[in-house]
Amino acid sequence: MRIYVNNLNELNDNERITINGWVQETRKIKNLMFIILRDNTGIVQVTAKKNTLSNYNEIYDLTRESVISVSGILNKKSVSKSGVEINADKIEILSYAETPLPMGVIDKVSVDFDTRLNNRFIDLRKPENFFIFKFESELLFGIREYMNSNNFIEVHTPKTVAAATEGGADLFKVKYFEKDAYLNQSPQLYKEILISSGFDKVFEVGPAFRAEKENTVRHLNEFTSIDIEVAFADDNYVMGILENSMAHAIKHTIKKLGSDVFKYNSSLGEVKAPFPRITYEESIYYLNNNGFKLNFGDDFSPEAMKILAGKFDNFYFITKWPVDLRPFYTMPDENNPELTKSFDLQLNDIEITSGAQRIHNYKMLEQNFLIKGLNKNNFEFYEKAFKYGMPPHAGWGLGLERLVMNLLHLSNVRESTLFPRDRTRLSP
Ligand code: ATP
Ligand code: MN
Repeated sequence: MRIYVNNLNELNDNERITINGWVQETRKIKNLMFIILRDNTGIVQVTAKKNTLSNYNEIYDLTRESVISVSGILNKKSVSKSGVEINADKIEILSYAETPLPMGVIDKVSVDFDTRLNNRFIDLRKPENFFIFKFESELLFGIREYMNSNNFIEVHTPKTVAAATEGGADLFKVKYFEKDAYLNQSPQLYKEILISSGFDKVFEVGPAFRAEKENTVRHLNEFTSIDIEVAFADDNYVMGILENSMAHAIKHTIKKLGSDVFKYNSSLGEVKAPFPRITYEESIYYLNNNGFKLNFGDDFSPEAMKILAGKFDNFYFITKWPVDLRPFYTMPDENNPELTKSFDLQLNDIEITSGAQRIHNYKMLEQNFLIKGLNKNNFEFYEKAFKYGMPPHAGWGLGLERLVMNLLHLSNVRESTLFPRDRTRLSP
């Protein structure tokens, strides 16, 4: 079994071990040197002596961030900071790091975000950055676990498509042999088709592409979308799935990662379902009483969202959006045709999810193609699935990076993206 730094405390004093990692620092006193070895669980001090190491001279010249394999005796009575150290009798150099490093791993001098992203492979060696992706992994595990135990089927729909999900601008065009194709903005149309196929509850985690030109702290051009669609369900039903899956996943993540999560967000443990709900119209009313001049049909600016968020602790829903602010497939409200059975889930002042009950009557869909100025011919493959038996259905799409960004109180969605794609960045 491989041994990691965070296992060392469980092992016996004087036990012979082998451990691998990166050379974080070295301190040298001629015939004796100390190496701070780092793996992705922590750091440990390695003591290397000239008279016990055959390749001492080589080790003496080791550069920071080189990769080594250390064999030796565990000393649990060490006076070093961590209380354990390894007295090495064999050190193998697996990979030698060149100097100077493009940026440091532990240096206190801060580098700008562009330099960090240009050298993301090193930036991610910093424990506080690596932690973000451990958190993301556990959170997604928790969401999957919830979906799985509620009989969702995980699916994978195509990302190269012939037509835009919602028509419109935000599309990347790609060459597809002799035709044009697009990178999909959302699995929306495909998950709806699967509802007509009788899949009942579908769930997808996959990339979504948006060619939006704005460069903001919450927009990426490629993000990870978590999507669900449920047959015989309405907006309320899928809001329930959403709030319960969030609460479950957060609980799982805290249990798995422990108190480290509270270094990022000290009130993460307070998230509880159900989440509060406010209608679009109530939000307009509230904002008008708090210094904004908003009319029915207006969208909310980031400034307005900040004020509205002040009313709530963490997650909340904004429900019943006007028809004009929602996509063509959104079900109108039966009590007021100007409104829809739709919702956004907000986390503080940022939108995390949009969802709704969808239209399942193809004549109604056709009308909406006209109203929204969409070319009906592009949607033939989709509409067809509505003509031969389509249950009522509802669902939502959630941006994973945005969720992690906000749960960990990060200031930029790029922090919770391994290799962000934005208006100016396509590499690494
Ligand atoms: P916004 O208004 O914030 O640009 P949107 O309403 O266009 O978002 P939707 O089409 O509703 O986004 O997508 C569903 C979810 O996917 C959003 O709530 C968000 O979490 C995420 N998302 C959408 N666009 C992006 C993006 N460009 N970058 C990162 N996440 C995104
Ligand atoms: Mn939205």
